Amino acid sequence: MIKHQNYDVIIIGSGIGGLVCGCYLAKHGMKVLIIEKHTQTGGYCTSFTRDGYHFDVAVHSLRGVKEENQIGILFKDLNIKSSTLMTRIDPSDAIVFKNKRLHIYNDIDNTIRSFVSVFSNQKKEIERFFLFVTKTDFTTLYKRAFKNTFRELLDNFFYDEELKTCFNILLGNLGLDSDRISAFSTLVFFRELFTDGGYYPKNGMQAFPNALEKKVKEYGGEVLLFNEVQKIVIKNSKVDGVVLKNGDFIRSRLVVSNADAQQTYRMLIGKEYLDKDLLRRLNHLIVSPSALIVYLGINSKLKNEERCCTLWYFPSQNSVRCYKECFESKVTQIGEYSICGLSSLSVSHQLNHGKVSVSLTSMAPWKEENYWSINKEKVAEKIIRKAIEALGIPRGGIELKEIATPLTLYKYTYNHNGALYGWASIPRQINKCIMPQKSRIKGLYLCGHWATRGWGQGGISMVVNSGRTTANMILKPSTSSKLGVTNVSHAYS
Ligand SMILES: Cc1cc2nc3c(=O)[nH]c(=O)nc-3n(C[C@H](O)[C@H](O)[C@H](O)COP(=O)(O)OP(=O)(O)OC[C@H]3O[C@@H](n4cnc5c(N)ncnc54)[C@H](O)[C@@H]3O)c2cc1C
Repeated sequence: MIKHQNYDVIIIGSGIGGLVCGCYLAKHGMKVLIIEKHTQTGGYCTSFTRDGYHFDVAVHSLRGVKEENQIGILFKDLNIKSSTLMTRIDPSDAIVFKNKRLHIYNDIDNTIRSFVSVFSNQKKEIERFFLFVTKTDFTTLYKRAFKNTFRELLDNFFYDEELKTCFNILLGNLGLDSDRISAFSTLVFFRELFTDGGYYPKNGMQAFPNALEKKVKEYGGEVLLFNEVQKIVIKNSKVDGVVLKNGDFIRSRLVVSNADAQQTYRMLIGKEYLDKDLLRRLNHLIVSPSALIVYLGINSKLKNEERCCTLWYFPSQNSVRCYKECFESKVTQIGEYSICGLSSLSVSHQLNHGKVSVSLTSMAPWKEENYWSINKEKVAEKIIRKAIEALGIPRGGIELKEIATPLTLYKYTYNHNGALYGWASIPRQINKCIMPQKSRIKGLYLCGHWATRGWGQGGISMVVNSGRTTANMILKPSTSSKLGVTNVSHAYS
């Protein structure tokens, strides 16, 4: 039940973008209503339990929690104590490529040592690369990398293809291969990963959106779960409110959509209100790929347990072609590798009571329902075989298995084609004008990974930035470009 029939602002969707935006607006005294179709808040950043096992649906590690970074700023503004909510896992990532094993540690010098210990003949190049990624000012990074792909940038630093591959494997965090992805997006993401990665909420990922939901309510906002918005009502060329699936109309002159941009414009608004330019962009913009995820509940200890957030297991050169092929809608490489989400192992006692839960991801293209009903078990088995090799899962130890296909990701969030990261971060799509947060329709704003900020998409910390910036645009329209931006956006100011 909601308290009013008229709100200052309605937010569609309670992904992290919607929650962050709602927190700032409610904190500044606006009457906020967040409407979410699912039974819990968080979007891709949610968790579920089955038979005593805890699983994170998609997001399993966070970056940017230091005070000066995106989530750190959020926590400070909302008075959330980071050390109470979060733990930091060290190393954050392990890369296993053929017979090589590398780690990304919380401390950059340890990471450099790990890379040098494997590629000792490239010590200088490795040091130069990490220095460039972590210490160059953003204006220079932007100038050097804005037009390039990551492959072009990497070729300037290294000649050893295997070393390059180890960096390319991490591009799974952005869903694209090095020949396509924007070098600038990758650098923004890498800087955060190498200097401020590896965070995980002590009580599982759901604790993060739960903490934000609590703040929205503390500031007087409301969250309406299990209700889907079916229409954004436009009256006299301005937003007038929303209609829910059950037919209820709720009035508001401001609507922020945290939902997929295609759904927002084509279905919730309707083609008749869209100009040609926007329709052209909606037709031509390219979305990031999706994934197939296997959730495993294991009833005994792993033989090769790695205490990190993500283990990137890529046993052959072949498996490295996967990101490219997935983007091209080919399926041959799905399951030739496994991206193992292991964060909950580090806090498993609270979450799983000693049981082991892991999530295994392989990038996967969008396919019809029929394709996945025939193939999902087969693909899942391939991924599981890789994980057995990587983690030493004892035979007979798997007690529970759940599979999410791109269709599942779509069904739960309405993200177009089950996209992992909104628009694909290719050089021509990282311009902040391609899907602005303030729309041309009066009163309509976007936030989250479908609204662009000029450096591409890279997960939660960028979505936090998006939620905060949209709130600032609403609160202080004339100064919005100067508020709520951090070091990342200095490149644009
Ligand atoms: C498998 C996977 C792994 C990932 N791992 C990581 C990771 O480890 N770290 C990281 O930083 N990022 C990760 N990401 C990326 C990250 O999850 C997303 O970029 C981010 O969560 C997007 O947040 P959002 O607020 O933009 O939207 P979403 O999380 O997509 O939320 C949108 C919300 O809107 C709701 N909604 C949609 N339409 C309607 C409607 N009509 N009415 C009501 N509600 C509606 C949906 O139900 C949903 O709750 C991962 C993504 C995936 C898929």
